Amino acid sequence: MISGNLKSHFYCTGIMIRVGITGGIGSGKSTVSKLFSVLGIPVYSADEAAKNLMNEDALLKQQVKDAFGKEIYTDGLLNRKALAAIVFNDPAKLQQLNALVHPATIRHAEAWMQQQHTPYAIKEAAIMFESGAQEFLDYVIGVFAPTPLRIQRTMHRDNISREEVQARMNKQIDENIKMMLCDFVITNDERELLIPQVTALHEKLLGLSGVG
Ligand code: ATP
Repeated sequence: MISGNLKSHFYCTGIMIRVGITGGIGSGKSTVSKLFSVLGIPVYSADEAAKNLMNEDALLKQQVKDAFGKEIYTDGLLNRKALAAIVFNDPAKLQQLNALVHPATIRHAEAWMQQQHTPYAIKEAAIMFESGAQEFLDYVIGVFAPTPLRIQRTMHRDNISREEVQARMNKQIDENIKMMLCDFVITNDERELLIPQVTALHEKLLGLSGVG
């Protein structure tokens, strides 16, 4: 149950604040996003949306087919493994794919934001500054966790090797730089408590939106 003075039910009639949540692999973005969603804040998952859009957005599908060959789709559905095999070790191809998927996701997220009626809404994205998505947001929250902990969490969650996690991490921008670009940082190191940090930020964002 949410305690007394914490506002979890609200309806916003003014301008809604757009908030991003980002952080490296295994930092706890999804965990932090779930806490905001428990407080009644709608959360858009950019990773999930991007996956769906590659199967549902007609323009994006055509662009992906043009770039990677029409056989990358079978019966209208994207063959993710085949696409991953193409882009994983080819930075130019990955960049080409990102240049198609990111604008489509940014457009879709913006349309979603316009349908929300809360004082603020959240877009969770692993790739934020790399894609320019922060330009469409008012504030960005960074979720920080030390690298060894992120490696342990991801190995455990995805049942993959340390080397596989490291390979994924090497493709992301440096965590310290990422956090410096954020307006707020939540520390998810399993020492500092997460829930008080989230509720304090929630109150702050409500204040910034004028619902204080
Ligand atoms: P990715 O970018 O890989 O999707 P993420 O940043 O969204 O990761 P989560 O999926 O939220 O990270 O967390 C990674 C794993 O660590 C999950 O299994 C999650 O349950 C666990 N985890 C996250 N935060 C904590 C915490 N404070 N205490 C214990 N486990 C945690």
